[in-house]
Amino acid sequence: MICPACGANDDRVIDSRASEGGKAIRRRRVCNRCNKRFTTYERVETAGRLMVIKRDGSRQAFDPQKILAGIEAACGKLPIPSEAKARIVEEIDEELHREFEREVPALTIGERVAERLRKLNQVAYVRFVSVYKEFHGLDQLIDAAHDVREQARAEVPGQGNLFTPPEG
Ligand SMILES: [Zn+2]
Repeated sequence: MICPACGANDDRVIDSRASEGGKAIRRRRVCNRCNKRFTTYERVETAGRLMVIKRDGSRQAFDPQKILAGIEAACGKLPIPSEAKARIVEEIDEELHREFEREVPALTIGERVAERLRKLNQVAYVRFVSVYKEFHGLDQLIDAAHDVREQARAEVPGQGNLFTPPEG
């Protein structure tokens, strides 16, 4: 354990006892470097450890950093403020912990990221869903990406006819 006083990672336990009615173990430690005494608590891992169920059925601990990495990859060099990206991660993090007690499908996380990227930036959104297509085969997300492309084309006047040969 890192010593809170000197930062050394060199301590010994001088006392261990049950705490919180047996739900935790309290350990008194002393730093071998500076002799500072400090306390740590050991608890059973429960709340806060949301597990993500991947498509192949395997599970891994939920990690908001991975959501951010996915968003960063989709946004690339687009001029999107980092606060906007961080806000999406925070919102999804909070939302998932509120709605799911122990496990959440990876698909659900992907859909929620996509939903927010769609509102934020359509290019980032399409990139995000195409990554999902490649690695996760999320057909419904691909359909959504297709819709956005069609929509974008319809919104730019003349672009739909760009390669149509001139009449006559
Ligand atoms: Zn120390």
